[in-house]
Amino acid sequence: MAAYWRVFLACAVLLRLTLALPTCDNVLSILPGKVFVPDTQFYNDSISSYFYLSGQQSPSYIVAPATADEVAIVFKAINDCSIDHVAVRSGGHATNPGFSNADQGVTVDLRGLNDIHLSKEDPDLVSIGAGALSVDVYDVLDPLNRTVLGARVASVGVGGFLTGGGISFFSAQHGFGCDSIRNMQVVLANGTIVEANATSHPRLFRALKGGQNNFGVVTRFDLVAYPQPAFWGGAVMYPSEADAAQLSAFAQLKMSAEYDPHVALEQTFVYLGAQKTYSSTNNMFYTKPVANASALRPFTDIQPQTSNTMRISGASDFATELEGFQLKAQFAVYATLSLPVSATMLVRVHEMWRESNPDLVAKVLDITSTMTYQSIPPPPVADASQNSLGFASNATPQKDMVLLLFSYYWGNDKDSTVVNTAVSELTKSVQEAFGDKDSYKYLNYAASWQDPIASYGKESVRELIQVSKLYDPTGVFQKVVSGGFKLGV
Ligand SMILES: Cc1cc2nc3c(=O)[nH]c(=O)nc-3n(C[C@H](O)[C@H](O)[C@H](O)COP(=O)(O)OP(=O)(O)OC[C@H]3O[C@@H](n4cnc5c(N)ncnc54)[C@H](O)[C@@H]3O)c2cc1C
Repeated sequence: MAAYWRVFLACAVLLRLTLALPTCDNVLSILPGKVFVPDTQFYNDSISSYFYLSGQQSPSYIVAPATADEVAIVFKAINDCSIDHVAVRSGGHATNPGFSNADQGVTVDLRGLNDIHLSKEDPDLVSIGAGALSVDVYDVLDPLNRTVLGARVASVGVGGFLTGGGISFFSAQHGFGCDSIRNMQVVLANGTIVEANATSHPRLFRALKGGQNNFGVVTRFDLVAYPQPAFWGGAVMYPSEADAAQLSAFAQLKMSAEYDPHVALEQTFVYLGAQKTYSSTNNMFYTKPVANASALRPFTDIQPQTSNTMRISGASDFATELEGFQLKAQFAVYATLSLPVSATMLVRVHEMWRESNPDLVAKVLDITSTMTYQSIPPPPVADASQNSLGFASNATPQKDMVLLLFSYYWGNDKDSTVVNTAVSELTKSVQEAFGDKDSYKYLNYAASWQDPIASYGKESVRELIQVSKLYDPTGVFQKVVSGGFKLGV
């Protein structure tokens, strides 16, 4: 009998080792060798890789799965062990504190899921691990004259970008990045792995396109790889004397009767508090190999210019260039609105932003304040309900609306409340003057004190709540993964 028990115990130990089953008294056992505590190299690298200081909280553990199966093991352990504070991160670009990092909790770092595979059967499809960066994908596809709807800045992660919507160089033609997803591999709250697409788990598939981290962890995206040759673009910078001409060129572009689906433009006005100077920049692209495209001439003709990098190149090169303009290692807040286009609105919002800067700069040392105008991508032609963003299929936000982004950067966390209060007041004033309180707010640009999911409309919100109850009945992604814009269930 004793011998029998010895054999049984030996088998049990062997089985536990083979399956690497976690024990709840030791988080390190969840994924042996892939759970990191403070002051280890991996932990420090992971924290410092968050783009803004606002994202650099201090979790007790960082878990770094490298496969969907490992993400599933992590979520089973989160349930079995009643771990109650978890965050999920891909590229780490969230500006809102705690959205992708769990202070004193467990952060699941997906950067190890970064495989990029071209489909052998279908040249129009590429599979991308959710932890890959936009530039990694461009690096693979540019030489093949193919591209995906990724971010315009190199290090933005595909995980947050695609689940929040995604505005790319090519969005005026192809729509939001999420509309180019053909399939998502998803780890659900209970650790089950499913493939979500138009025919398998279609409600989950749609919910994830705009619903971000409310339903599961996307571990792989299968995206359309569009044919795309090198194209014309770059950045042109102007001193503040150009502001009036800039605003007028933007109005002209938006009010033009003809919509050109090859134009991608971010017009940004900048106030450098440290130097008390204003300037502006256009990141602009014409997504054909056409130099000096006439659609962008109203902007390229504006003088004086302080620099001009317009050239024909590929998405990787452009995204790397734009990465170089970003203010890193700062605290940051983004806030957003979408406003009906009019020349008056464009001029007045710019004025309101300028009027708000002196007060803020008097309170916050060396703050940088920027505002950006750009277009909203068109909804999917066939059926707008393919995503959760709430646009009707006959809506034309790409023509009628302007997407406004306020972004602010500062060096000391003690100023975070003052900045957020000022940006929230400015955003509210602009909305009251020109916007509808329910108008679309782009989730990936929204401040924590905004409610982008409510802006998708009541019908969309109702569906998102139902999908959450269906796929996550115990509310792991509402209560345990508490960072991000939640559904309030
Ligand atoms: C410098 C800079 C440039 C930007 N450029 C663009 C741009 O060109 N176009 C544009 O549209 N937006 C842009 N953005 C906004 C960007 O899309 C969002 O910040 C986006 O959420 C970042 O994704 P991430 O994976 O890097 O961020 P993370 O901080 O890792 O994640 C953001 C949110 O998404 C959730 N999430 C991440 N991965 C997953 C996943 N696999 N499954 C489920 N939920 C997940 C996280 O839990 C978190 O709540 C930019 C932001 C910055 C800071």
